[in-house]
Amino acid sequence: MDFAENLNSIRQRIAAACARAGRDENSVTLLAVSKSHPPECIQAAVACGQLHFGENKIQEAKAKIPLCPGKARWQFIGHLQSNKVRDAVELFEMIQGVDSLAIAREISKRAEQAAKTMPILLEVNVAGEGSKFGYAPDKLLAELNELNALPKIEIHGLMAIPPFTPVPEKARPYFQKLRVLKAECEKILGAPLPQLSMGMSGDFEVAIEEGATIVRIGTALFGERVSSFKRAAD
Ligand SMILES: *Cc1c(COP(=O)(O)O)cnc(C)c1O
Repeated sequence: MDFAENLNSIRQRIAAACARAGRDENSVTLLAVSKSHPPECIQAAVACGQLHFGENKIQEAKAKIPLCPGKARWQFIGHLQSNKVRDAVELFEMIQGVDSLAIAREISKRAEQAAKTMPILLEVNVAGEGSKFGYAPDKLLAELNELNALPKIEIHGLMAIPPFTPVPEKARPYFQKLRVLKAECEKILGAPLPQLSMGMSGDFEVAIEEGATIVRIGTALFGERVSSFKRAAD
């Protein structure tokens, strides 16, 4: 696996998808999903100029991030439990996957204690899957003003993980749904939401065509996930 080669190819595909959609390629942030990969992989990625990374487990991130180059910037993309919020606020510059008032309140509280404001993305369960985290769209719209009133969080947009499909085109309706929902949120808030985090290794080009501003890509950059980044996480 050659990270530099993978990165080049992904960047080209991002640029091509942007061109098809009439978008500036700089309007899409490539978030390299480094879960399960060790600090050496991050170091190699940073050396190639990749600076944004996503992790989905607090324990792993806590062990890994201090071992990585200082230039690397981190976003949390997993499901956050309230007892892990303090660590998340400390480790990450953005928390994606916020899907309840309770967790948003906790983030605001911990951010206040840390004297910062925490950018967040609200996760939406776009296909209504019972097995998935995320807000039901109606509930999100109903709670949005209350979320937005929390003093130390900043809502930057929405994120979603549509049902897995080997056919990227099948994810398009879910990406469209998230984009429309973002517009509804903007109307309620009376302010623009800059970020739409959607698209993974298998479907990021379709996501970009539908307006993604953050694509979260793991396998296509780092190769298959190794069982786990264990040693340091123990
Ligand atoms: C693991 C993960 C990804 C990356 O998935 P790939 O298919 O390996 O690109 C993206 N988003 C979230 C939330 C993830 O947990």
